[in-house]
Amino acid sequence: MLQIAIQAKGRLNEDTMALLADAGISVAGGKRKLVAETTGFPMRVLYLRDDDIPQAVETGVADIGIVGMNEVAEKNCDIAEVMRLGFGSCRLSLAVPRNAGYTGSGWFEGKRIATSYPNILREYFKKQGIAADIHEIAGSVEIAPAVGMADAIFDIVSSGGTLIQNGLEEVVQVLRSEAVLVRNRHLNAEKLADIEKLQFRFRSIVDSRDMKYVLMNLPAENVETAAALLPGMRSPTVLPLAAEGWCSLHVVIHENELWEKIERLKALGAEGILVLALENMIR
Ligand code: ATP
Ligand code: MG
Repeated sequence: MLQIAIQAKGRLNEDTMALLADAGISVAGGKRKLVAETTGFPMRVLYLRDDDIPQAVETGVADIGIVGMNEVAEKNCDIAEVMRLGFGSCRLSLAVPRNAGYTGSGWFEGKRIATSYPNILREYFKKQGIAADIHEIAGSVEIAPAVGMADAIFDIVSSGGTLIQNGLEEVVQVLRSEAVLVRNRHLNAEKLADIEKLQFRFRSIVDSRDMKYVLMNLPAENVETAAALLPGMRSPTVLPLAAEGWCSLHVVIHENELWEKIERLKALGAEGILVLALENMIR
């Protein structure tokens, strides 16, 4: 049976639990336990700190795991990325005090940088040919410059609000990250087949996020023009209506372009437009 390591509590926990639930997997019991049984898929859940997930998967304590790409890169474990999951988006960036007179990456030469991600930063400075003093601290990295512990920081940024609050300015984005499904490199055929099944479920959930199912009535003469606007999964579904000269058009549209497309469809005479949430999209 597959064993999956997920974050016990923290920023990835809620989205991870929601992904499992959407995939029809319910996890028994509260979070008090380290290991939990599931129903809906032959799998056991192991709750860990996110720092420990890459190593747990590398050593085979867990077969698979859900963790941020930032942790995978920092721990430098020999594990395989199965798929990106579209949540937990953030970046690892260098930030300097706003009044530091930053001039470009040469500014970091000889400076003291506080971070919880020393390996990624060391690698970056090595590539850039910059000699800086990396100072590893476990938490509250963003306050290090203000208290005189460092000249700059290298830390996780998502909205950038925390940096602003601490008088810091993001100057270099080093790594983009999101949550990923990872797996151990030495699994038997049976476990690999189970991972494929799981990946199939996750794929349909991740792909359908931010997608809308749109239905409308349209004058038949404009169907071709409308279809050209709408790259659906293959092509839009067109059904004739009882009313002569009209048809019903069904299509999947990404949320980002929903309103723009709807305006153009209205200009083509679309009426009775319904926008529905999409639960799963199986390609
Ligand atoms: P743990 O107790 O499991 O070690 P943690 O405190 O190290 O948790 P969290 O703050 O819960 O970690 O973040 C987990 C992951 O969420 C990060 O490694 C990163 O991939 C992602 N993430 C997304 N946005 C942010 C953010 N704004 N700040 C921190 N992490 C973020
Ligand atoms: Mg952690």
